[in-house]
Amino acid sequence: MLAGVLAAAVPFGVQLVVDTSAHAAQVTTLYYSSSGAPDYVTQIDQAAANWNNAVTDVRLVKGGSATIVFHETNDGQGSYTSTDGHGHGQIYLDRQQVAEGFAPTRIAAHELGHNLGLPDDYSGPCSEVMSGHGPGTSCTNAVPSAAEAAQVQRDWANAFAAVGGVRQAE
Ligand SMILES: [Zn+2]
Repeated sequence: MLAGVLAAAVPFGVQLVVDTSAHAAQVTTLYYSSSGAPDYVTQIDQAAANWNNAVTDVRLVKGGSATIVFHETNDGQGSYTSTDGHGHGQIYLDRQQVAEGFAPTRIAAHELGHNLGLPDDYSGPCSEVMSGHGPGTSCTNAVPSAAEAAQVQRDWANAFAAVGGVRQAE
């Protein structure tokens, strides 16, 4: 059976290809690149896998025409992302922050969360990835909480069609 394919134009000159053949929900595939963060390729892949294990409406796949691009820095400014919250962003992983003891897989999962539309929740528990540095370096959890996964699942159920403006988040 041929899959119905709907291409929706989005900013940055790329297209999100949405497979509409799924029975209930659409599934959006987002491609990411980790080649700009060579020290953290394994951790980035694990963070993406953690999201893929938690949600089904959106998939993170390495390669292709990446719209989520990882970089690494060493300036002590902390990790951050510039993203529209709808699957397009530049993610910067700070090696000094990792040296301070923050787990890079958790950082990657957190920044991916921003690219999937989630805001910071620094006062949240370690069981959330969006609590970020809030719980301190002892928190290494890189698996989204059930509530975080549910929010992303809801937001992407219709391919997260409403595109937001690019913003920067830590
Ligand atoms: Zn953040």
